[in-house]
Amino acid sequence: MRAPLVDGFGRVHTDLRLSLTDRCNLRCTYCMPAEGLDWLPKPELLTDDELVRLVGVFASMGVRTVRLTGGEPLLRRGLPGLISRLSELDLALSLTTNGVGLERQAQALKDAGLKRVNVSLDSLRPERFLALTLRDRHEDVLEGLAAAKAAGLEPVKVNTVLMRGVNDDEATELLEWALAEGYALRFIEQMPLDPQHGWDRGTMVDADEILEVLGRDHVLIPVESRGSAPAEEFHVDGGPATVGVVGSVSRPFCASCDRLRLTADGQVRNCLFARDESDLRAPLRDGATDDELAERLRVAVAGKRKGHGIGDPGFVQPDRPMSAIGG
Ligand code: SF4
Repeated sequence: MRAPLVDGFGRVHTDLRLSLTDRCNLRCTYCMPAEGLDWLPKPELLTDDELVRLVGVFASMGVRTVRLTGGEPLLRRGLPGLISRLSELDLALSLTTNGVGLERQAQALKDAGLKRVNVSLDSLRPERFLALTLRDRHEDVLEGLAAAKAAGLEPVKVNTVLMRGVNDDEATELLEWALAEGYALRFIEQMPLDPQHGWDRGTMVDADEILEVLGRDHVLIPVESRGSAPAEEFHVDGGPATVGVVGSVSRPFCASCDRLRLTADGQVRNCLFARDESDLRAPLRDGATDDELAERLRVAVAGKRKGHGIGDPGFVQPDRPMSAIGG
């Protein structure tokens, strides 16, 4: 084992968000323009062999959990095969997906070693889903969720972004639906990561508002231990079921951050809002040893800033959009 990945603030990094592609089959209005984006050319994407090798280097430096993201990771060809190879590295694997195609793949992903899944869903109304994603795939997402549960992925979480005047009237409905279905619901504050750079704090529904609305009909008791988890969790109506709120903007949790990101084209981002990246793909393809790659990674982590700085006068939104960074 190599020495752990510690930044200048003493934060130890054990969680890797791994983007498998920048492509997506939905066009969520706060994430992707209707015409899509210029996708990364295939030769620039890390191959399965390269991914497994790099994740091995991260694992040798203390990374224990890997979340597979995108774009839409289910679009990655041979995903079950990649997951079974990553499982051999003794890592807890999870996946964040928009759910389209999950119905077909859930069992194979579980059998390959996937443990848990987060599915993005911002509305229970098919017509509103269509307006938000420009794709008529609402039923597919619901079927994907059910298939994930049936396959034994646990927990099955639902990620919802509330937007003022768009879907914020569904907060309590979504909670009651998730409780009835046995899904763990997470409300996520909308973050300034859209390619159009149109994010407006005024339309963001913040954690206080979400909890105030839910609290009108339900009793919410904070869950004691949070650790480095992004979500604040609350027991609902005294039961074991919880609801989570990820207050990235209004209640930042950077002080306990243990997350790193590797983009589908081999760039290390030491923070979701990092302004610069460290390239692992070029040295990898130029024959670098694992020790050399590890040293490069260590330098990238050492330079991590204290927090995202959203709201600070000098805040600069990253050039790379969320769809090419991954959740
Ligand atoms: S914004 Fe950056 S530092 Fe803060 S929690 Fe997210 S990844 Fe960590």
